[in-house]
Amino acid sequence: MEVIKAPRGTRDILGSESWKWAYVSSICREVADDFGYKEVHLPIFEHTELFSRGVGETTDIVEKEMYTFEDRGGRSIALRPEMTASMMRSYLENEMRSANQPVKLWGIGPMFRYERPQKGRYRQFQQMDIEAIGAQDAFVDLEVINFSMELYRRLGLSNLQVLINSVGCPKCRPNYRKKLQDFLKPEHDKLCDSCKNRFDRNPLRTLDCKRPVCKEITANAPSIMECLCDECKEHFDKLMLGLNRIGAVVKHDKRLVRGLDYYTKTAFEILSGDLGSQNAVCGGGRYDNLSEAIGGPHVPSVGFAAGIERIVLTMEAQGCSFGKEPSNKVYVVAAEPCVRIDTMDLVRKLRMNGISADMDYMDRSMKSQMKSAGNMAQYACIIGSEELAKGIITVKNMSESTQEELTIEQLISKLK
Ligand code: ATP
Ligand code: MG
Repeated sequence: MEVIKAPRGTRDILGSESWKWAYVSSICREVADDFGYKEVHLPIFEHTELFSRGVGETTDIVEKEMYTFEDRGGRSIALRPEMTASMMRSYLENEMRSANQPVKLWGIGPMFRYERPQKGRYRQFQQMDIEAIGAQDAFVDLEVINFSMELYRRLGLSNLQVLINSVGCPKCRPNYRKKLQDFLKPEHDKLCDSCKNRFDRNPLRTLDCKRPVCKEITANAPSIMECLCDECKEHFDKLMLGLNRIGAVVKHDKRLVRGLDYYTKTAFEILSGDLGSQNAVCGGGRYDNLSEAIGGPHVPSVGFAAGIERIVLTMEAQGCSFGKEPSNKVYVVAAEPCVRIDTMDLVRKLRMNGISADMDYMDRSMKSQMKSAGNMAQYACIIGSEELAKGIITVKNMSESTQEELTIEQLISKLK
């Protein structure tokens, strides 16, 4: 029988990498605290309808990428492909409308999309997500964009580009949609199959197509800016003014649209110059109509989601620091088999004092225990019957090869 492997597009995040993830999460948490966002833990599966109505029936995510199944009770369930719709559901369900607005939430966890796996693109991936729910002011968009930039600043990332655009609103977007269709019509036959399909259903998405043919065709597409209504235009100008005021370097990308239907007005994306083709480290924007799409009242909101895998890849490419890799301080070595019970007790006392310590459980020779100490720890603490009788421990600094004899109290105060 063959050994069972993990499903395609999933990855095991092992010890050599997971500490980097822990570091990135800790910085996410720090920034969230400083910006006044509260952490929430939401279910990783929801009613399929939440996404088909929230994200949009004609989006790639809902059409082709969702993990949907019927549960034993006959309900249609989907593994979440993103967190925003769940955030809004939670806001409505938990009556956060009665709290001070905007309600600022953040979360981190796995998302699921049935995509073609490649570097930086997986079927299960991790997102950090923030949402400011319940406010219309463009300065909230500013805060959200500033949050993402501050996050990347603290992680030490450079060579990033912030792209920003407005995707209008249901009042003005239909005009643009029409204009774009008119522009695309003569080229329709040359578009890729997905874009032919998008032409009627969701023509704005052709601007987001990554195929070279479609990119070339849409290169000179009309800009949405000329179609924006006064409200959307004012919103955009106010945001740009704010970004300018805080000295944020952003690029107005008139072709930027997002893969989710719920976006209105502001859309933004942050690209890393060190990632190749899966280069978006974060995407977000305003979604004033999501609440209504899932059965709630009008709740204007804005947020973003950042891909943790791509952040880690970029940090590695740029040689950013992940803090200190956790390692054992001490490896306790039994000089004779009869003191193993004492090594156990010493390990326990060290750990109780917050000193990371380990020992051998395989009954190995002192020589091979010393080898483990050299590989795994900063100090070897050797005990044998002689040390026990004297009430001391031989402490060897493995990198400097120096040695001293200490009592347990001295050892603890030295290493703590
Ligand atoms: P892309 O254009 O790369 O497909 P997207 O627009 O679909 O990205 P969003 O839905 O905005 O992505 O998700 C926000 C972020 O989550 C992305 O910027 C990216 O960092 C990350 N992300 C999205 N899909 C994946 C995936 N399949 N694997 C790893 N990270 C992903
Ligand atoms: Mg995508």
